[in-house]
Order: sequence, then C-alpha cells, then structure tokens
Amino acid sequence: MTDIQVDTLRKEFSSDGGEIVAVDDVSFTVEDGEFVCIVGPSGCGKTTLLRCIAGLEHPTSGEITLGGEAVTDVPPQNRNLAFVFQDITLYPHMKVWENIAYPLKLDGVGADTRYERAQEVADTIQIGELLDKYPGELSGGQQQRVAIGRSIIRSPRAYLLDEPMSDLDAKLKKEMRVELQRIQQQVGGTMVYVTHDQEEAMTLSDRMIVMDDGEIQQFGSPQRVYHEPNNVFVSQFIGSPEINLLPATCRDGATVAVDDTDWRVDTGVDADSVPESVTLGFRPRHTTVERTADPDGIGGEVALVEAVGDENILYIDSEVGELRAVADIEQNPIEEGDSVAIGVERAYLFDAETGETVATSRRHGDRSEDQVEA
Ligand code: ATP
Repeated sequence: MTDIQVDTLRKEFSSDGGEIVAVDDVSFTVEDGEFVCIVGPSGCGKTTLLRCIAGLEHPTSGEITLGGEAVTDVPPQNRNLAFVFQDITLYPHMKVWENIAYPLKLDGVGADTRYERAQEVADTIQIGELLDKYPGELSGGQQQRVAIGRSIIRSPRAYLLDEPMSDLDAKLKKEMRVELQRIQQQVGGTMVYVTHDQEEAMTLSDRMIVMDDGEIQQFGSPQRVYHEPNNVFVSQFIGSPEINLLPATCRDGATVAVDDTDWRVDTGVDADSVPESVTLGFRPRHTTVERTADPDGIGGEVALVEAVGDENILYIDSEVGELRAVADIEQNPIEEGDSVAIGVERAYLFDAETGETVATSRRHGDRSEDQVEA
C-alpha cells in the first residue's frame, strides 16, 4: 500500500465566463493505510481533486506522488488505483462473480482463477452467497458491495471513492459505513473518500480535509476539526445542529458585546491579539438551558422543539436573535413556550473580517475552566 502526496496542485478549467479555479494550490499527504475524507459544499473542487489523483484530470500545475513515485504524468490505468464512483456501472448481463472479476479478465486471467479470486473477495465483503446472481437481482447496498469488490480484486495501491453511497437510503448508508471501515481494516488500504455529507466524513475519517472554494480550509482528525475549527466556515460546515454565530464587539481579551449584552469569554489569549470586530460562535451542544422566568444572563423563549433520539434540539427566540441549543429529553425536559436562560460552556471568537479563529474559550475536555458568562 501507498501514501499519497499532493503538492501545490492546481486545476483550472476554461468556461464561457472565463477561468474557473477548481483546485487552488492544495498540498497534503495521506499516510499509508489512512482513511481520509474530502468534504465540502457542492462545487468546492472535491471531485476534481480526486480525479487529479486518479489521473482522470491532468492538473494545471503541481505534483502527485504515490508511494514515492511521481505519477502526475502517468495515465490512470498505470497508477494501479481503485475507483468507486457514485454511479454503479455493473454489467447487467454478467453474474456477480464475473462483474467482480472483470478487471482480471482484462488482464487475461483464466475463468477458474477468476472465479476463485471473486469468491475470496466476495467472502471478504460478505456477499459470498451472491456470486451466481445477476446485478438486477440485488439490492442497492449489495450492488454497491459488488462495485467495491471489483475495485479491490486487483490489490490496488489505494482506493479513491467519490460519493459512493449517495444513492442509498439512510439505514443502508449507516450499514455500508460500518462495512467500509471493516473492509478497510481488513485490506489495510489507503482510502480517499469524497463526500458532501459532514456526518459521513466525521464517522469514517481518520483525518478529514474540509474544502471550500478550491482551497483546503482544514486538514485534521474529526475531533480536532470539530473542536478546534480553523475558521468560521469550518465551524459552520462541521457539526450538527449548526453552530450559533453572532456578530460581536470585543471590548478586551475577555469580554465581547452582542448588541448591548456583555459576554465574558475567557480566551486565555492576549487582549491585543483579538480584533474589535468578531463573530462569537458556540455550538448548540456546548450550551446549558435552564427553565426560568427570570434569567440571569441571556434569556429567551423556546419557539420550537425537535426531538431527536434522547435529545431535544431547541430553537430559542432570545434577546440576541434565534439560538439553537441541545437539551437531554429526560434530564432537562424543555417544552415549546418555556422561558429559559441560556449558558455557554465553550465559545469561539472569529475575526469578523477574515473569518479566522482568533480565540477559543477553553480546550476540549477542560470542562472546569473558563465558563462563558453572559
Ligand atoms: P459536487 O459535490 O457538486 O460534485 P465538487 O466539490 O465535487 O462538487 P467539482 O465537481 O470538483 O466540485 O467542481 C469544482 C468546480 O469546477 C465547479 O465550479 C465546477 O463547475 C467546475 N468544473 C468541474 N469540472 C469541470 C469541467 N470539466 N469543465 C469546466 N468546469 C468544471
């Protein structure tokens, strides 16, 4: 298996409206055996980046190296990479085993050996009993597995997957995620997986690349990206329900004002390093909500309650605008119409102009310190 190095890769397309920079000088390394998701909104350049690694697009500039070998000018068929794309293109007139073993047929391998290898691969991905069926007789998830089987039969250097599960229903998606992680552990492959679904990226990744507008906004573990976002874009794109963001004025290093309300945010950073205009951010899961008619701090009225599993997602009309918060259904049963006080356990300050993170109220797991008070 193989590490993948991408060095100052740029891809421009010409269109009627001029040049489009789909990938804007990105550099990163996916380590051998690592599972990396590329995640970002539609049009941010994820697929183009993956297609450059695959060799299906030639970059405008930059270098790609696979296991130490420079492959920027190597055609896709000579890179020994496996691709799994959103559209599953199984051959309907071929049985499952023939579909899985098709790459070996192209290599001139005989039918008996092909059947044996297809059996081994199908057992690995738990569709061993389906070998003699036709694709039309399979469920969506089973077809997806056949496509994965076909991609792993040649023992590729790495796997490139582009939204392979976007056609599957939510339940099947969850099953396939577990399955994919299991397959990866079993075959030990380097995987690069493109998705626009942040939850999918959070669940699957060892590390994830968050992209926007052709650029890498952050590359790190899901925990790091969630708890220590580089900028306001990452904080908003990653995490559900979405982070609360409020325009604020920083009075000194530890006090920010939202409208006329002062919030204390013990950032631990030098006051001089925080600009005056900031965006205050806090995640709905980093709040406390207390039912009270006489709030000491930020108060509001619960406008909507969405029950999701053991939690309620609360939409609160507060004095600083709509805020989202999460409360445990059993331990803190808040209802629509309740008057509440909202506390913030952890806050971020972003530079209002650049969006960069300038301060975080406390480190992840450091629960006892630096409560934010409003
Ligand atoms: P999605 O999630 O919608 O698939 P994406 O993040 O994968 O989006 P890309 O498909 O890589 O984004 O597209 C990045 C940008 O490059 C977009 O503005 C797109 O319109 C443009 N683009 C992609 N391929 C081409 C092409 N062949 N010719 C011209 N422009 C292209």
